[in-house]
Amino acid sequence: MSTSDLAPHNQVTVLQDGYSYEDSGNESHMRANCTSTLIRCRDGTNVIVDTMTAWDGEHLKTLLQGQGLEPKDIHVVVCTHGHSDHIGCNYLFQTARMHLVGACASNRDLYLDHFGSGDEAEELALDSNKEVLVRRTPGHTLSCVSVIVTNSQLGGTVGITGDLFERQEDIDDDSIWRNAGSEDAKRQVEERSKMAEVCDFIVPGHGPMFPVNATVRSKLKIQIK
Ligand SMILES: [Zn+2]
Repeated sequence: MSTSDLAPHNQVTVLQDGYSYEDSGNESHMRANCTSTLIRCRDGTNVIVDTMTAWDGEHLKTLLQGQGLEPKDIHVVVCTHGHSDHIGCNYLFQTARMHLVGACASNRDLYLDHFGSGDEAEELALDSNKEVLVRRTPGHTLSCVSVIVTNSQLGGTVGITGDLFERQEDIDDDSIWRNAGSEDAKRQVEERSKMAEVCDFIVPGHGPMFPVNATVRSKLKIQIK
């Protein structure tokens, strides 16, 4: 592919907004499904981030059809972490060159050495332009990763963070992300602030995409103590 064939921007499309709330029939149960996101990199690489529950296969195929895509058109699957509502439909994407579940990369029975360097700051580019990067963002689980998309059509950098952020409201009410479970809350507070510093938009694990501004960045910085 020549440079002139490249699209001008990496296209980020939220296929479905995630949610999480107490079940109305039993307050000790939760209803939750993840936010699922498509990235059409400008070099032609198609990435899906978080694939919902195993019961969502037909629904996810329909969402992709709405973007003119079939499962075989997806080149890379990224699950921000290994919880069941983020990995359930990975089986749809059997022609993808890589499934990344948290920091664990595989294809069929072959396990790849990405994120094996021991360097916490290791980044993995998913596209040839190195504009779509995966990095570790531990907290919700110790293996969590986020995808950072620069040069997006939204006019800024987009962080697809999984449950590092549960939803926008958890910036003012930290009980939301803490109650969703955190294997290392101290790290999570730090990673949330680091992510906000480099992003103009965040796609959280269980809510719609939201913008990041100076107020959000300073609130998250103050929460590091
Ligand atoms: Zn989740």
